[in-house]
Amino acid sequence: MTDLEEIQRRRTFAIISHPDAGKTTLTEKLLLYGGAIHLAGSVKARKTARYAVSDWMEIEKQRGISVTSSVLQFDYAGCRINILDTPGHADFSEDTYRTLMAVDSAVMVIDVAKGVEAQTKKLFKVCSDRGIPIFTFVNKIDHFGKNPFDLMAEIEDVLGIRSCPMNWPIGVNGNYTGIYDRETEMCHLFLKDNAHGVKKLEVISGKIDDEAIKSNLTPEIIESLESDLELLDEAGDPFDEEKVKKGELTPMFFGSAMTNFGVQPFLEKYLQLAPPPEPRKTLEGSISPEDPSFSAFVFKIQANMDPKHHDRVAFMRICSGIFEKGASVLHRQSGKMLRLSQPQQFLATERQTVEKAYPGDIIGIFDTGELGVGDTVCEKKHPVTFIDFPVFPPELFARISPESSMKRKQFLNGVGQLAQEGAIQVYKQPYIMESFIIGAVGQLQFEVMKYRLENEYNVTVNLDLMEYTTARWTEGDVPPEELIGIDNALVVYDRRERPVYLLPNAWQAGWLEQRNPKVKFLESPPVG
Ligand code: GDP
Repeated sequence: MTDLEEIQRRRTFAIISHPDAGKTTLTEKLLLYGGAIHLAGSVKARKTARYAVSDWMEIEKQRGISVTSSVLQFDYAGCRINILDTPGHADFSEDTYRTLMAVDSAVMVIDVAKGVEAQTKKLFKVCSDRGIPIFTFVNKIDHFGKNPFDLMAEIEDVLGIRSCPMNWPIGVNGNYTGIYDRETEMCHLFLKDNAHGVKKLEVISGKIDDEAIKSNLTPEIIESLESDLELLDEAGDPFDEEKVKKGELTPMFFGSAMTNFGVQPFLEKYLQLAPPPEPRKTLEGSISPEDPSFSAFVFKIQANMDPKHHDRVAFMRICSGIFEKGASVLHRQSGKMLRLSQPQQFLATERQTVEKAYPGDIIGIFDTGELGVGDTVCEKKHPVTFIDFPVFPPELFARISPESSMKRKQFLNGVGQLAQEGAIQVYKQPYIMESFIIGAVGQLQFEVMKYRLENEYNVTVNLDLMEYTTARWTEGDVPPEELIGIDNALVVYDRRERPVYLLPNAWQAGWLEQRNPKVKFLESPPVG
């Protein structure tokens, strides 16, 4: 296979959903199709915590959740698939968001009975801000569900994207018995009785007027299907590949991950429509995956993956060029050369050393503290700097201090390291030396921080949640004495010594903005 073919066959994506919509189940089914059976078990195990699968972090075992994101790689239908696993728990963190920077498309799983839920909305926004294609899988149609037209309207109202159903559930009043494939005009019916939600469903396929199909459907169901299809053809958005590519239209599939119904057709269509690695923006202009010069960016740093060795692994997404083991690359931010001598691929439960990797692939590099999240590594003779790596506005704040002042040194060291790793945002308050304020996007980040300070840095901390929900930076770092009406704001300083104004709610932030019309307020730190 040529290098170009290798690039073209890569599909790097994430599955996003609200907890319980079926992300784990769908991921497992995709892995099963890819023949990665031993991995499939581990996806579930990580969730149920019945087995200690992930040895990366004790907390994962305790809580039965994936705190870190790993990569699931397998081949299917000629494609090399990299699924970037994102924490599926309600308490998600910046890691989830950052992982979405490294994908080329996303699959959004929606529960047919629940529709678009809170976390789906947040994750969707991160993907849609990047303008990447998003595919919708409406799951659990073996169960009672919402009307599909209502779901389409909901997706448009809540997420602001139009949808194009590729298939359509067959059934009335939320009771579905199969799907109709709009492209092939085939009906696929499952026989409800032997489902019970566990076994693979028995399926009958045929055209709508085939006897085998007709005899299993009531005239009411057939009539309803025909009128729905007519309405879709007339009033629905036609499939438009360009719009899908730009993230303006989401192809919508109905199915049931648990019973395997509709999963394989979904996967095949998805691989056909989802984009291979595309050019990425850099400060020096766009860089294409076919460009022979190697470039990659770090989207995640994980320290102490093996607590015995105090190692630090930087996960990077390759954007251009071919990676070969032992290559020397330029770390753009420090200007230093790094030898990528022990590159690893982290495939759910096992590490493998990589000899060669292509754009779209993810590799983990042991790092000595040099690399930071968002950093670029590239070839010295072709330096580039990846941009658009956002910092997500924190929504939760807490004061953190060591329980014993004897541990102050370890505390400072630990907090400093975790901040550099990007695990948490750390702010200082003027004249207060014994505590910091930390900001996060999810509660779990606080717990992980507390746990890691205890286990990795041997310091027990007090963590007190504060009643602030909103942070504002200012353009040009306007100092507090130049602002009017900051009585309700807590003034803190970030690691670049920029003033940050913490406010109890967005309304108060709006009020502060109104009172200082000449100041430009920012919801996240200015880039740089
Ligand atoms: P996640 O939190 O999004 O990863 O969701 P899971 O994949 O763990 O699924 C949540 C629950 O829904 C589990 O009990 C699954 O067995 C169940 N589930 C997943 N897919 C289906 C489906 O297609 N039909 C039905 N009836 N249940 C499903």
